[in-house]
Amino acid sequence: MSQAQQFEFKTEIKQLLDIITHSLYTSREIFLRELVSNASDALDKLRFEQSRSAEIVSPDLDLQISITADEENRQLVITDTGIGMTQDELVENIGTIAHSGSAEFIRQAMADQANSSNIIGRFGVGFYSVFMVADKVTIRTRSFRPEAKGVEWSSDGMGTYSVAELDEDMPRGTTLTVHLKEEGKEFAEPNRIKSIIKKHSNFISFPILVQGEKANTVQALWRENKFSITPEQYTEFYKFLTYDHEEPLDTLHLSVDAPVQFSALAFVPPRSQDTFGFDRDNYGLDLYVRRVLIQSKNKDLIPEYLGFVRGVVDTEDLPLNISRETLQENLLIRKIATTLTKQILTHLKKLGQDKDRYITFWKEHAKRFKLGYSDFANQEAFGELLRFNSSRHEDKDGLISLDEYIEAAKEGQKEIYYISGPSREAVEQNPHLEIFRAKGVEVLYLYEPVDEFVMDSLRKFKEFELKATENADIANLEQFASAADKADKPEDLNTEETKDMDRFLARVQEILGDRITEARISKRLSQSPSCLVSPDGSTSQMHKIMQLVTKDSSIPKKIFEINQDHKLVRNLLSVFAKNEKDEFVATIVEQLYESALLMDGYLADPHKMVSRLNKLMEDSSAWYKEREGK
Ligand code: ADP
Repeated sequence: MSQAQQFEFKTEIKQLLDIITHSLYTSREIFLRELVSNASDALDKLRFEQSRSAEIVSPDLDLQISITADEENRQLVITDTGIGMTQDELVENIGTIAHSGSAEFIRQAMADQANSSNIIGRFGVGFYSVFMVADKVTIRTRSFRPEAKGVEWSSDGMGTYSVAELDEDMPRGTTLTVHLKEEGKEFAEPNRIKSIIKKHSNFISFPILVQGEKANTVQALWRENKFSITPEQYTEFYKFLTYDHEEPLDTLHLSVDAPVQFSALAFVPPRSQDTFGFDRDNYGLDLYVRRVLIQSKNKDLIPEYLGFVRGVVDTEDLPLNISRETLQENLLIRKIATTLTKQILTHLKKLGQDKDRYITFWKEHAKRFKLGYSDFANQEAFGELLRFNSSRHEDKDGLISLDEYIEAAKEGQKEIYYISGPSREAVEQNPHLEIFRAKGVEVLYLYEPVDEFVMDSLRKFKEFELKATENADIANLEQFASAADKADKPEDLNTEETKDMDRFLARVQEILGDRITEARISKRLSQSPSCLVSPDGSTSQMHKIMQLVTKDSSIPKKIFEINQDHKLVRNLLSVFAKNEKDEFVATIVEQLYESALLMDGYLADPHKMVSRLNKLMEDSSAWYKEREGK
């Protein structure tokens, strides 16, 4: 070995080292990721030289990284057969802080000395991070260039380093000998090393041997050509990624060059991982930069409503040492997310052609997916993916798309109608449905609060307006022929009765006072005697949701509609005609109003209603007894 020369580190590196050696950073293991990435880059560069037929030392050497550890001596040796460095390159590369990440790291760490140890994890500080765990590091390297000599660099990370040219022949590549501090001795345990490799460097494309055993076991499938990958390989990768034991429901493999370069491998799991909705925040895609894991479950890569998607994104366009903060506001990440979102939506649309699989998707992931109502940029694509139970179905399990609704819409129909309720049974009892049933117009059944938000923010789908049945303009429905005239429909009111009816409505208004805005004859009812209609076009479901938010418990004022063909109403009208102030009329009107409130979910206190009903039953049982002659 020639005489070793001593050098002093440049100020900036001294600063960096000072921070690193004095930090109490808890994820010190990332030093290994940095060293392995450097080795992998060196191997990539060598492969490039090979591909352009450069003359190379020991051309038959396997391209690999090997790590050996000696626990007793607290020593870790990392060897690669990559491009190596000449003496000049070594001094240049290791002696300067080339990448902006480290410079930025120093700037921030100096500004906030107290927190510098937190900052380390956010910046990959490259080679120097080794001094978090080492008290001495030796680099022996030999460039691939045939004439190059081996060089040795060595430092304790304190203030100086030495460089010497080696006399003896050495193989191409670089060997780092790391002497660990007492506090860093865990990094000489082979199992610890293996698990770090699996966590951070599993997809490095060169074999990483730990004590001679390959530690990176899975291929970075996303970087391969998709035509060369078998479905079994995708499944295997999916299982590796998610720990799921089932096959993915759907797989999306993308390689995009513009507007940003990235590849992505994404899966739709066959089952929701968030059945109860408590874990909604736990989503994201794993971000890799050239096969190195930068962040798992990065939330900026995918919108929350597509959070059921699991997978990885890999880009060449980011530096390895990018910080989390920088990631968050990174334009590139945002562009990837935009492209990816569109691609996933398109992909789901394709999945939609396979009805059975789509139903599985919908049952498992719809809860989360519906949050996509707020993605205004993709509203139409989002709308196309929605599914609903509707009046056309026999039970609550049927599903149709909005497109299917439109296909079956009546000639001249311009609106898509929907109704909300906690269950199919509840919805089908809703008086607002009656005219739709009579006219044979399909109505979508909404069972979840989020559905209201979906309808409210979409407002339109293609040329059709989305309309709650309770807000439907009855004139729009009257153009359609009735499915069948009701056989038990009574005769129309005669002139006298029509006049009585006008006065009766006024009496109803008087009885209910300012609890209603108006009492009027209904055109929408056929089975029920009465219902409430909102005057302002908001739905009662939505209103109730908003009330929960604002902690308001008032009962909204609505229009009270009366079905003049209903037997009960006709009876009441006769009683009223004889005595306008009959108490029985008032009791029944009160009951009808409260029944309507109950149906809409607004009746907070049932006591009055129950005692009124008991009184009515008492009376009717007396009449019944009399009629039956008992
Ligand atoms: P970065 O890898 O982010 O550039 P580092 O401080 O980790 O920063 O490394 C500085 C430079 O040293 C690298 O860019 C590379 O040129 C060189 N280098 C580091 N490790 C190796 C290696 N194992 N083989 C060849 N060159 C290396």
